[in-house]
Amino acid sequence: MFGGEVGIQRDGEPGPLTDGAVAHTKRGTMKIITATSATQRQRSNDYNWCIEGEIVLPPVVICRRDRDDPDGGCGCGRGWSGANSHRATTTAVVRERELTLTEYTEAIRSSLEYGGWWPDVVDGVGLNAMVAYLSDLAASYPVGAVLEKRLNVVVRR
Ligand SMILES: [Zn+2]
Repeated sequence: MFGGEVGIQRDGEPGPLTDGAVAHTKRGTMKIITATSATQRQRSNDYNWCIEGEIVLPPVVICRRDRDDPDGGCGCGRGWSGANSHRATTTAVVRERELTLTEYTEAIRSSLEYGGWWPDVVDGVGLNAMVAYLSDLAASYPVGAVLEKRLNVVVRR
């Protein structure tokens, strides 16, 4: 899902990522999606192995067991990947952080590199698409909104 799409600007200067939604509420901060334990156990198959507050990203691939079922036996179909821990959680929350788009992009890129995805599986275009997707998603919810993933659909709890 992150291949082949045109990415976002790269100069680090906050710009309009979406019409209407404001990603940067003040200079130097942006809303991002982060790991949380909030609302864990709301679903019986929730799990959280991430570090509270770390940046999360969607799994690069969803395995065969979960491909058609977010409640599949693996769990990756309903999980967010922790950028630092490289573990996963079913619950993420929108937080506002002092961060530039450049810094955020590098956090995602370096996580993908550490995970062995960058640059062969996810390249620059895919990275920018992922960052745009995550930024737009965060911008469209208020700070504190808990988001769960059901395969490629994200919904607020
Ligand atoms: Zn899986």
